[in-house]
Amino acid sequence: MTSVEKRQRTILKRIGSEFSMEKWSDWRWQVKHAIRDVQTFEELTGVEFSEMERRKLDEVVDHFPLSITPYYLSLIDVKDYSRDPVFQQAFPSMAELNIDKADHVDPLSEDKDSPTPGITHRYPDRVLFHVSNTCAMYCRHCTRKRKVGDVDSIPSRDVLQRGIEYIRRHPEVRDVLLSGGDPFMMSDSRLDWLLTELKRIPHIEVLRIGTRTPVVLPYRITDKLVTILRKHQPIWVNTHFNHPRELTNTSRRALRMLADAGVPLGNQSVLLAGINDCQRIVKRLVHKLVQNRVRPYYLYQCDLSEGLTHFRTPVSKGIEIVESLIGHTSGFAVPTYVIDAPGGGGKIPVMPNYLISWSTNKVVLRNYEGVICTYKEPDTYEPNFCDRNCEACHLQLNLEDADEFGNVGVLKLLSDEAASLTPSCNRRIARRRSYKKKEQLRKASEEKAKRA
Ligand SMILES: *Cc1c(COP(=O)(O)O)cnc(C)c1O
Repeated sequence: MTSVEKRQRTILKRIGSEFSMEKWSDWRWQVKHAIRDVQTFEELTGVEFSEMERRKLDEVVDHFPLSITPYYLSLIDVKDYSRDPVFQQAFPSMAELNIDKADHVDPLSEDKDSPTPGITHRYPDRVLFHVSNTCAMYCRHCTRKRKVGDVDSIPSRDVLQRGIEYIRRHPEVRDVLLSGGDPFMMSDSRLDWLLTELKRIPHIEVLRIGTRTPVVLPYRITDKLVTILRKHQPIWVNTHFNHPRELTNTSRRALRMLADAGVPLGNQSVLLAGINDCQRIVKRLVHKLVQNRVRPYYLYQCDLSEGLTHFRTPVSKGIEIVESLIGHTSGFAVPTYVIDAPGGGGKIPVMPNYLISWSTNKVVLRNYEGVICTYKEPDTYEPNFCDRNCEACHLQLNLEDADEFGNVGVLKLLSDEAASLTPSCNRRIARRRSYKKKEQLRKASEEKAKRA
């Protein structure tokens, strides 16, 4: 028996059920027996807090809900729990009550970009759809910390229906990302219904599901669920492993079931102080992920949500980790390191610099080893300046295949549609507008005087 199995038996015994792997591996049983208060945690693990600690921790739990599945609990090494990566992600810390000046309840302005409840429409061609408000385990580093678990519930069919309506009315949306909470907390039948409704919208090309169940509730990945997903392909599933320890036999089995069903798998990690802010840990993690057919997708800089100060690292740590991966390991094992822009600007990729200099027809680059090289650009490039006049272009773009809903942002500059982009709060431009207005008023009154 492995040490994890031993711990599972102990937890089961303490919960008071006869030991049965059948109960343990039933995801509903796991959800029903999730640990939701400090006292139960103490009873099941044998860890003891002082009266004062307990009171403080209860206060934290009042602010930010606690829930740990018995499965995820069994991964904690109780003997050295305080530095354990699973414990730190799942169990409240008094540090969560520290609120920094820069912290926000909604740092990514998901509410401001929400046209209808549940939908965040930020990017031109894709939307985020919050289809559940609940999770099997509440990550202590959750960016939606203040919102999840508020009303531990799945939105009604009615609310979901309105989200679906919004998507139906927006033909530019080709990709819908189901998130929450955790979409896999929905019942099979509700999920099947939702996917069917979304798939019936002609302009939806792909669906994505963001879920942490393969990490915290791997038993959720059942044959039935996989059959539903297969029916609605293409569905991409992004999961959330942060530490190599989380890739247990059970979670690897869940990943195998998804991959065997032809579901492309990605992983989004969060860079967390004291948990995975180490290049060797992240490298081990990405290697284990690709071994299990999961492509590392994003590595997130920790957001500015309330209660996360103790998890944040400087940005330099993320760059250092990416530096340790690019060139050193398989290209597809390297996630994109991103900062989700406070205020709702979306994800911004951040990388070490590889472009050292640039002259006419020549770029100077460095590689991962520090070797500096030059790349000579062609002398005779037939410039194919793109002014978006596709009818006149000699390249063979089949206009039927081209989806074009107008240029956005920096692309406007590249296509000659604009020479500059100005933030709406720019004071100099605001002054200009006021001069112009004054001038118009002056002219109007002159005209009036003349006519009189
Ligand atoms: C992350 C995110 C997406 C998806 O972004 P990708 O870079 O395409 O993965 C879409 N909408 C919102 C609001 C997001 O935060």
